[in-house]
Amino acid sequence: MRKRRVPHRPERPHPVRLNEAQGIDYSVVERRGSVATHIGPARTCIGCRARTSPSELLRVVVADGTLVPDTRRRLPGRGAWLHLDLDCLTNAERRRAFPRALRVQGSLAVDHVRDHVEQHVKTVVGSPHDQQE
Ligand SMILES: [Zn+2]
Repeated sequence: MRKRRVPHRPERPHPVRLNEAQGIDYSVVERRGSVATHIGPARTCIGCRARTSPSELLRVVVADGTLVPDTRRRLPGRGAWLHLDLDCLTNAERRRAFPRALRVQGSLAVDHVRDHVEQHVKTVVGSPHDQQE
């Protein structure tokens, strides 16, 4: 009895390795070349999720279970970053972004931050002479 063995021929492995290696190489080179070094430190506004420089944002920390604006950026602990903008504040509140960003359980009172943002908005709107020229 003759049995013909069908030779198992698994599909030949394509020369993927080379391509993969090349792809990885390129991505590494690109990352090293452009990003990160030029942008510098950026923070994300927890209200609108825009990335911008810290000077555009207000730092907010938790003190005694309450959110407080850290205008001098000196308070210890985790900070959340927010535009001085009531829309961003409202967004952050609605999303409960403060407890999440600050790793705090439960809700946090935003009264102090709201006051601060409202005052800032009033100041900017109320003194147009300082803003123009
Ligand atoms: Zn924002």
